Amino acid sequence: MVQQVTILGATGSIGVQTLEVLALHPDRYRPFALAAFTRWQALAEQCLAFKPRYAVLRDEAAALALRNHLAAAGSDVEVLGGDEALNMVAAHPDADVVVAAIVGAAGVEPTMAAVHAGKRILLANKEALVVTGKIFMDAVEASGAELVPLDSEHNAIFQCMPHGNSASMKGGQKNAGVTRLILTASGGPFRTLDKEALMNVTPEQAVRHPNWDMGPKISVDSATLMNKGLELIEASWLFAMPSEKIDVVVHPQSVIHSMVEYEDGSVLAQLGTPDMRTPIACALAWPDRVASGATRLDFTQMSELQFEAPDMERFPCLRLAREALEAGGTATAVLNAANEVAVAAFLAGQIGFMDISHCAATALDKMLAPTCKTVEEVLAVDAATRRFVDAHITSLSR
Ligand code: NAD
Ligand code: MG
Repeated sequence: MVQQVTILGATGSIGVQTLEVLALHPDRYRPFALAAFTRWQALAEQCLAFKPRYAVLRDEAAALALRNHLAAAGSDVEVLGGDEALNMVAAHPDADVVVAAIVGAAGVEPTMAAVHAGKRILLANKEALVVTGKIFMDAVEASGAELVPLDSEHNAIFQCMPHGNSASMKGGQKNAGVTRLILTASGGPFRTLDKEALMNVTPEQAVRHPNWDMGPKISVDSATLMNKGLELIEASWLFAMPSEKIDVVVHPQSVIHSMVEYEDGSVLAQLGTPDMRTPIACALAWPDRVASGATRLDFTQMSELQFEAPDMERFPCLRLAREALEAGGTATAVLNAANEVAVAAFLAGQIGFMDISHCAATALDKMLAPTCKTVEEVLAVDAATRRFVDAHITSLSR
C-alpha cells in the first residue's frame, strides 16, 4: 500500500529534505498535500515536480497567486488558502502520514488537527509540543495517533529505547530499565567564544551552523543553546522522563545523535552523519528501514569524538529551559513565545545576541504561567507573552 503523506512546512529545510526521501521511494510514499506559509513560488515548483492532490498556503493572497500560476501551467493540483485549509489537509481521511515541520508555535493547531485525527505524525515541530505539553500527549493517547520523533536527538533516543515501543510510540512509551537520556549538542557556531565576543555576534554568523543546514530560527536557537533547551522539554514529554533524568552533553562532531543509559550501566547510542534525511527515512518507514540518501559514516576518517559539559554562564537559555520544564504549568509556553519574538528581533537586527536569553528570562520572571486545560488557553498565554516581549524589546531599543 502506498502511503499518502501530508507535509506541513513543505518549503522549509525539513520539508524539502522529506520530499527528497519520498522521491527515493515512489513505490512506498506519495506526497498528498504540501503546505507552507507565504512562499508560493517555492511551493509552485514542488507542486509541478511532485503533483500532490492539495497545495495549501496559510497566506490567502499567496494562495491566490499560486492558484493562478498553477492553472496557467495546466496543473490540476487543488490550491487552498488559510488556517482551516491547513487543518483540513492535516486531518484528511486519505492522509496516512503527517510530517509536522512548520517552525514555531504557528504549527500548534495544524499539528493538533493531525493528532486528533489519529494520524501517524512525524514530529519536527518541537515548539508545538513544548507549548502544549501534556495536552498534546494526552490527545495522542486519546486518539491513538502514532508519534514518531523526527528531531535527530529524539529519533536517536527513540531507536535506542526498549523495543516494547517498536511499532512507534502508540500506547505510551515503555521506558522500563532506562535510567537516563543523554542529549548530545553540537554546541553551535559560538561554542568557543567568550561572553564579550558573544555580545557582538551578528545574525549572519549565528545562522551559519558548523554541522547542520537548517532554517534561520532553529539555527539561532542552536547558537544560543535554546534549541537544546527546547529539546530537553521535548524529550521529557515524548519519553515520559523527568528533568533530572535527562542530561545534555556537548559533542561538537555531531556523530552521536543522542544516547539512552540503562539500569545495568549499558549506554545505547545512535550514530550517523549529520543529515536529517536519516531520521526522516527512519521515522517514515519505522519499524522497517529504507534508504535515505545520506552519506555513510567512515570510522577510519574520524579522528576523535569530543564531549564536554555545556556552559550555562555563556549559554543561559539551556538553564532557563530546564527551569521552565521544572516549573510546570505553561512556563515552557512562555519560554517558547519569548524566544520566538526575541529571535525574530535578533534576526531583524533590533537586539543583540545576549538579549535573547535576557528576554526569555524576563518573560519567565514576569508572566503568569498557569496550568491550562485547552490549546486555546495555552495560545492565549503565548499571545500575552508575545505582547509583553514586544513591549520589552521596544523599551530596550529606546
Ligand atoms: P524553515 O524555516 O526552513 O521552514 C519552516 C517551514 O514552516 C516553511 O515551509 C514555512 O513556509 C512554514 N511556516 C513558517 N511559518 C508558518 C506559519 N505561520 N504558518 C504555516 N507555515 C509556516 O524551518 P526548518 O529548519 O525546516 O524547521 C522546521 C521545524 O523543524 C522547526 O520546528 C525546527 O525546530 C524543526 N527541526 C528542524 C531541523 C532542521 O534540520 N532544519 C532539525 C530538527 C528539528
Ligand atoms: Mg535536534
